[in-house]
Amino acid sequence: MSPSLNRRTLLLHAGGAAAVLLSVQPAARAAAPKLEESDPMAVGLGYREDTHKVDDKKFPKHAEAQTCASCQLFQGGPKDAAGPCSLFAGKQVAGGGWCSAWTKKAG
Ligand code: SF4
Repeated sequence: MSPSLNRRTLLLHAGGAAAVLLSVQPAARAAAPKLEESDPMAVGLGYREDTHKVDDKKFPKHAEAQTCASCQLFQGGPKDAAGPCSLFAGKQVAGGGWCSAWTKKAG
């Protein structure tokens, strides 16, 4: 086998491996577990899956219109039921959820 053929074979294999990795990535992202309210960091930030269940006495700055979907840190779409949050890496937060780190989405 010539050196150029070896290099071509290597590039073909590398391209195939990259295609497999790219096709697996969306499925792995979709499989991220939801953030549980009992998660220690979630408890610390007062996270609730339903913004209507937030204790307003404990969090007086909370307003029912504030949801994860309208938060700057939410990485899902505005109508997604759940999506990633940059505070809770590797977890999905509820689109209708809330925590005390809520920050109004810009724009
Ligand atoms: Fe939801 Fe924003 Fe708190 Fe993340 S930081 S859990 S998106 S309110």
